[in-house]
Amino acid sequence: MYTVLARKYRSQTFDDVIGQDAISQTLKNAIKTDRVAHAYLFTGTRGIGKTTMARVLAKSLNCLAVGAPTAQPCCKCDGCIAINAGDDIDVIEIDGATNNGVEQVRELRQNAIYRPARSRFKIYIIDEVHMLTVPAFNALLKILEEPPSHVKFIFATTEPNKVIPTIQSRCQRFDFSNITPGKIAEQLRSILKQEKIKFEDDLILSLAKMANGSMRDALSLLDRLISTGIEPLSASMLEEFLGCPNSEKIWNLIGRIADSDAAGTLAAIGDLVSGGVSEVQLVDSLIEYMRDLMVVKSAGLDSELLVLTDEQRKMAGELAEKFDVAALVYNITALEKLRWTIKNSDTPRALLEASLLRFALSEHFLNIDQLLSSLQACPRTNLPGNSSSAPVKKKEPSTIVQKDRFTKAQSCSEQITDDKQQTAGHGPQTTNSEHQASPVRRSFSEGGSIENQEKAQPSPNHLKTSNQRRNDIVNDPAVRTVLIGLDATITRIEEYQ
Ligand SMILES: [Zn+2]
Repeated sequence: MYTVLARKYRSQTFDDVIGQDAISQTLKNAIKTDRVAHAYLFTGTRGIGKTTMARVLAKSLNCLAVGAPTAQPCCKCDGCIAINAGDDIDVIEIDGATNNGVEQVRELRQNAIYRPARSRFKIYIIDEVHMLTVPAFNALLKILEEPPSHVKFIFATTEPNKVIPTIQSRCQRFDFSNITPGKIAEQLRSILKQEKIKFEDDLILSLAKMANGSMRDALSLLDRLISTGIEPLSASMLEEFLGCPNSEKIWNLIGRIADSDAAGTLAAIGDLVSGGVSEVQLVDSLIEYMRDLMVVKSAGLDSELLVLTDEQRKMAGELAEKFDVAALVYNITALEKLRWTIKNSDTPRALLEASLLRFALSEHFLNIDQLLSSLQACPRTNLPGNSSSAPVKKKEPSTIVQKDRFTKAQSCSEQITDDKQQTAGHGPQTTNSEHQASPVRRSFSEGGSIENQEKAQPSPNHLKTSNQRRNDIVNDPAVRTVLIGLDATITRIEEYQ
């Protein structure tokens, strides 16, 4: 029978616990100097070794092979084996999420009075302790105030802020840190070698990154790949079996954005989405990759903050040249916002496409305030051909949003639909920016004739340029509405002075 890797390779001693060296050392010292506390609070995100550490501590206190607590439990005696399996008679593991009532804690208190059956200590490991109700916490507090000398408590929680302060103050607290991708990768390689499973190294780094600091998550992903029975394990399997975006395709998408290639950006999105990648996954990946580029720009290609294969590193170095840090910071922030928006949207793909087009064409966008002020000041200065600005790092400034087009459209549709404005909810007091955001949609929604709609379309001949098609995308009311909603702020607006 297949045992999941997380169980099979669970750390057995303080020295085995991965990525929590300082805590291991402190606990070992406490045992050696006989200063073990009555209660511990282990905090940190899921899958980083809290329960494992609790069991190691329990074994150290109760190992039957030696006559006193030891920093090196034998892991072979009946006590150690039972604790490892989570069913020792004296080490009681309680899930705080399901046993969270005052009754359960009262029962615990009554049982705690009795001495352990065969070991030195009766040890209560309460997982997810923050789930206890307030009366349950208060009942627990009573026993924490005057614990019998044979009782130890180890509480684990992902949300320490929900553990009441009076409990916290009676515990020695250890904050577990997320495990670094490097350490996770090291462990994954070691396990695969012990399991005699062939693998490609670029898979290991991708898995380690996906695990987000949780060894348990990394191992369960690895379990899923191993269960396919395919060898060697490779990065392409991530896409095939876990639905993760292919890294080459993501780099390609970022390349299209960097080159201001609107059509290419849309095609690259289409390629990824049609391959089964969800919009949210795609945004997550983009955030991760843009973050890598930001690190390259800020800390250099050799930074330890980067977890990349040689090939990925080379690619990141080349792409980073095409962005500046401000643009990357903006993109990451906007993507994070977008992530929340598309989760609740019925049209996630359109939002995704609009946002990424915005990145690709970022030099062509102005925010609405800038748009209005420069329009009032001098509408003609920014026309194509007039640009004498310094070269933009990311892209050359070929054109910008053509502001005249909007005012034409706006005044035109206003004349046509003046008498219907009240019913459409666009009273005369409506601000300019609102007009600007949806001039075309307004004329349609008010049921104007086809003739009227045509009049409402902007068609000033003197503004037609070779960039008309690109501007059509940028100026599309639907796209603009999304972009304005994203609170677009341009970082390099001064390039167009
Ligand atoms: Zn033992």
